[in-house]
Amino acid sequence: MSFLKRSPWILHYAATSCNGCDIELLACLTPLYDLERFGIINTGNPKHADILLVTGSVNEESRRVLENLYQQMPEPKAVLAIGACAMSGGIFHPAYNVYGGIDQVIPVDVYVPGCAARPEAIIDGVVQVLAILDERTKTRKRQRRAAVQAQERHP
Ligand code: SF4
Repeated sequence: MSFLKRSPWILHYAATSCNGCDIELLACLTPLYDLERFGIINTGNPKHADILLVTGSVNEESRRVLENLYQQMPEPKAVLAIGACAMSGGIFHPAYNVYGGIDQVIPVDVYVPGCAARPEAIIDGVVQVLAILDERTKTRKRQRRAAVQAQERHP
């Protein structure tokens, strides 16, 4: 498996719910689990982020924020849904204002199950999403090269 040549930047958004998965995600960034060993940098700015990590289910209020964050992220980008709430709404799914999982609002690349999701599972999900992002980066480079070559052939 090849990885990105540069450091991927991650953005975390807690859509709602109990914050149990947020605690586990933060544990991943501590020296104990050391997610930064993959060269990952945590950012608060969607315009700098390559990977969106989302915890919690989506409701009317968080839907707009989630869409906004996703749209501000540059291509190529990837999304990780962390925990049962982000996957399907979890225990909050029957609530009147809950849409369900975050894939009701934005495309999701990798799902990390659990309530709460364990740090090891989150790290495994991040590694999977890194490989997806790597492939997307290569595809974009190939497309850009093909476009330049086509322009050179037919200026
Ligand atoms: S999946 Fe469980 S621990 Fe995670 S936010 Fe939902 S209720 Fe909390």
